[in-house]
Amino acid sequence: MEVVQRYIYSDTELDRTESEAIEALKENSQQPIPDPDRWLDEELERNILLTSLDTILDWARRSSLWPAICFPACCAFELIAANASRFDLSRFGMEILRASPRQADLMITAGTLTWKMAPQVKRIYDQMAEPKWVIAMGACGISGGIFRSSYNVVPGYNRIVPVDVYVPGCPPRPEALIHGIRMLQNKIAKEHTNIKLSPL
Ligand code: SF4
Repeated sequence: MEVVQRYIYSDTELDRTESEAIEALKENSQQPIPDPDRWLDEELERNILLTSLDTILDWARRSSLWPAICFPACCAFELIAANASRFDLSRFGMEILRASPRQADLMITAGTLTWKMAPQVKRIYDQMAEPKWVIAMGACGISGGIFRSSYNVVPGYNRIVPVDVYVPGCPPRPEALIHGIRMLQNKIAKEHTNIKLSPL
């Protein structure tokens, strides 16, 4: 655009010219200018997801389950296999086995439990932070399995801790354990989180 520059030396003429420019601008500014960011609306429609805080928290929890180490017997080897590269439990955000119960929110009971070990397992469970879940893995975890009638075997972990999902088998294969984990994730997705927000 060609700019015509005009020099004004008179104050009166300067005021008049300025007034004319202002009046012309007012005349042409009666309506708001259309939003130049209409493209932004389309981008937002494709990128914004509306949901509730409960849903987000439940999604985060079920996608990052960290199991406590609790492997008293032979089912443990299938759990270890499920964690290894072929079955790759890390696909579900839970490859980190925690040695500290305070950093864990899932107990997978991979093995026979004796009454002598039961207080320690219950103590591990009690030390885990809320919310927490338990998967009873294998026949021994569910009911004591082939050792059920033995005087020193706990006939199921549900005698000492609440169990959310039961995975049968002696031992269950990694696929069965993963199926149980998926069931638990579905269960967590349906749970009500009960968040209490404190005022700022
Ligand atoms: S269910 Fe079978 S494999 Fe698992 S701990 Fe009991 S005896 Fe061992």
